[in-house]
Amino acid sequence: MQKIIFLKYGELSTKKDNRNYFLKILHNNIQKKLKNVEIKYDYGRMFIIPSLEDFDKTILKLKKIFGIHEIVIGYKTLNKDVEDIQNNIIELLKNKKFQSFKVEVKRSNKSYPYDSMTLRKMLGAFVLKNIQNIKVDVNNPEIIINVEIRVNEILIYFDEYKGSGGYPVSSLGKGLLMLSGGIDSPVAGYLAMKRGIKLEAIYFESPPHTSQKALEKVMSLAQKLAVYNNDIKLHVINFTAIQEAIYKNIPHEYLITIMRRMMYRISAIVSARINAKVIINGESIGQVASQTLTSISAINEVIKTPVIRPVACLDKLEIIDIARKIETYETSILPYEDCCTIFVPDHPVINPEKSKCVEYEKLIDYESLIYEAVKTRKVITLKEEEEQKFTNIL
Ligand code: ATP
Ligand code: MG
Repeated sequence: MQKIIFLKYGELSTKKDNRNYFLKILHNNIQKKLKNVEIKYDYGRMFIIPSLEDFDKTILKLKKIFGIHEIVIGYKTLNKDVEDIQNNIIELLKNKKFQSFKVEVKRSNKSYPYDSMTLRKMLGAFVLKNIQNIKVDVNNPEIIINVEIRVNEILIYFDEYKGSGGYPVSSLGKGLLMLSGGIDSPVAGYLAMKRGIKLEAIYFESPPHTSQKALEKVMSLAQKLAVYNNDIKLHVINFTAIQEAIYKNIPHEYLITIMRRMMYRISAIVSARINAKVIINGESIGQVASQTLTSISAINEVIKTPVIRPVACLDKLEIIDIARKIETYETSILPYEDCCTIFVPDHPVINPEKSKCVEYEKLIDYESLIYEAVKTRKVITLKEEEEQKFTNIL
């Protein structure tokens, strides 16, 4: 018997014609994260064979890869005789303490001489006969003995762990995440990756009004997201000239609306350059003045690129729950200000008028400022923490 890990695909198994496309990407993502392990897969299962001492570490890593429904530690044998299966089960149960059990059989090898029901009974009876003081409990067993009869092998297992679900990152293409230092945008990025979107991120800084610490905070958030994304490119835009031009020339109640229109324009240009199909951000309906439906509409009208807002309909507390789970919360609540908070007017407009936005924007030569900001952007590649120690930030 060989101890192995194998994966159940979950939502991926609903894909018929292009399942292979998804599996290839999942395989690729796992290979990148786990490096020296052997991976094989077929239509129903993916097998991963780490060295024996690496099982726990491997499971932890697999839990952070999207596209995996369940992670199973199991035993593989090539012996297909019922007697062999029975003896293997007894051998594996030797060190387990339990009082009740049930057997589940899944038979994808349709030419196997016994059907699943018959086999289940045969295996159950054998276990009862060979282990003292136990009983069958189909509703609430302490141990489930799972047996899968496959064409090339038999799998026996007791332990399953929940995977992250979703689709393999990259399988749905690329998106550009507007990543601020706040709580919402890292969560938005996480949820987008879960649906198979590979992320690059964009951050607008306004030195000297924003500090190096604020940038480092965003970098460390990006690094937390890199765990799911293999690595992540962060485009850092110097937004100072635009920010100051807006501040000097535009009525202050429209500062944020116009500033966000500029951010959208720049994000759309960078998206096109990197071939990202969508922009992703952490806007949440009603949270602040710039996130009323009228504001979102006035801001969104300047670009054609679709904008995905994964946390649009979540309450702040729901967003915080996810932020805690993905361990971005503690970083997000560090005090360093991103550029929005410095230029915040006392009374931002809640229902901005589109015609006024257009009129005010004529007061600044924003096209050349945007051109300059895009041209001079810095690109930083962040790898997940563990590897970071050995790699220099570009
Ligand atoms: P967050 O908690 O994500 O910072 P927020 O509640 O502070 O969001 P806003 O400041 O209005 O809300 O920002 C809304 C969204 O716009 C953010 O979630 C983020 O996606 C994007 N954004 C805001 N500021 C920046 C920035 N400096 N750089 C990149 N994206 C930004
Ligand atoms: Mg913010």
